Amino acid sequence: MTDPIRLSLSRRHLMSAGAGAAIALSAGRAAAQQAEGQPLMGDPELPMRPGERMRWAIVGLGTYAVGQLLPSFGDAHRSRMTAFVSGNRDKAERLGRSYGVDRFYGYDNYDRIASDDEIDCVYIVLPVGLHAEYTIRALEAGKHVLCEKPMASTSAECERMIAAARANGRQLGVAYRVHFEPNNLHARQRIADDLGVIRHVSAEHGFDINPEFPPHKWRLERALAGGGSMYDIGIYGLNTSLMMLKEDPVSVSALYSTPAGDPRFSEVEGGLDWQLRMPSGISVSGTSSYCIAPYVSRQRYSGSKAALEMQPATTYDDNRIRFLGEGQPPQEYAAGNAAAQFAAQLDGFSMAARSGTAHRTPGEMGLRDIRIIEAMYRSADADGAAIPVSV
Ligand code: NDP
Repeated sequence: MTDPIRLSLSRRHLMSAGAGAAIALSAGRAAAQQAEGQPLMGDPELPMRPGERMRWAIVGLGTYAVGQLLPSFGDAHRSRMTAFVSGNRDKAERLGRSYGVDRFYGYDNYDRIASDDEIDCVYIVLPVGLHAEYTIRALEAGKHVLCEKPMASTSAECERMIAAARANGRQLGVAYRVHFEPNNLHARQRIADDLGVIRHVSAEHGFDINPEFPPHKWRLERALAGGGSMYDIGIYGLNTSLMMLKEDPVSVSALYSTPAGDPRFSEVEGGLDWQLRMPSGISVSGTSSYCIAPYVSRQRYSGSKAALEMQPATTYDDNRIRFLGEGQPPQEYAAGNAAAQFAAQLDGFSMAARSGTAHRTPGEMGLRDIRIIEAMYRSADADGAAIPVSV
């Protein structure tokens, strides 16, 4: 007859206690539960202990930094904040109290970070027109730099940033967070596996800009913004579609789509309709706009066998996939938690900096995108002429 006590023993208990002990137990009373320990489970490297993580200084405590980046350090495993750089000391100290950061710099004494051993990486979250200067100064101070998108105002600035990273032996990344976003990474795999040959790609990104709102105001000033809607929001369609397709364009064309007489757009374009011609023969078309409502972030990839849409495609926390196969009902789903992209990007850069290997989205990628957008502007200035690009 089967012994019920022996059956109730776990496999681990049987293995550690030995068969003889189990038989002895089966003859007497059931063993009391007792603490006994376990072998090491999982990866002991993750998360790193705080003292081992890469230490970050955040430069510019504005909407995006305060709303998205600072909180995301709480989810990071290999990165922690040690310093804030800000033109507003009171704000920096207040945030410092919330996040346990006690090293503060202003823009006037920024170069002193060179002698601060508690900073390994610097995250530039300033208006675009300041990216090149503050990136280069941080690289020359011996720090690794992750710079927000778009990389800089001009391709010449991007080239100088890359040269500074090389000269100082430091990593330079551009913060294209979508490359770390679970739904976009899943979509990239499905596009490769399930769509057949890609035939058409389209991307639409835009919102209605408010010149009274400080974070929007500088976006309308060329010196601080570098360019208009294409620099700020259209770049998501450009960079993400190139990530999905894994090829770079050979030429581009574009037309401005800025409402005539709109006083907001005296310095930068309000909208741009653009097209990339790819070596594979397909074209990618997109729109960027500062004058549409509601906010839109949408991409579609059409292949010979199926199509995949994302809407929203590149938001902070709510991206969705719609897969359309021949003769099947559409599959609509989210493949992961979009909000995970922020910590994944931080930790990805920390590991690249620590190991001396290029970040997934390096400075060269930022330069490529600015070169393409510059060619788009040249095309739009020439009423849509095709402009060759070499990236
Ligand atoms: P904000 O205007 O909200 O913040 C910019 C911050 O830069 C300011 O709060 C200020 O910080 C500092 N700053 C220094 N000099 C100036 C100046 N002359 N004018 C204005 N601000 C100045 O902008 P965002 O946070 O929206 O954008 C910052 C960067 O982040 C941009 O490069 C933008 O493209 C990028 N971004 C990226 C996103 C993404 O999803 N990857 C989303 C949104 C923005 P302080 O007071 O501390 O000195």
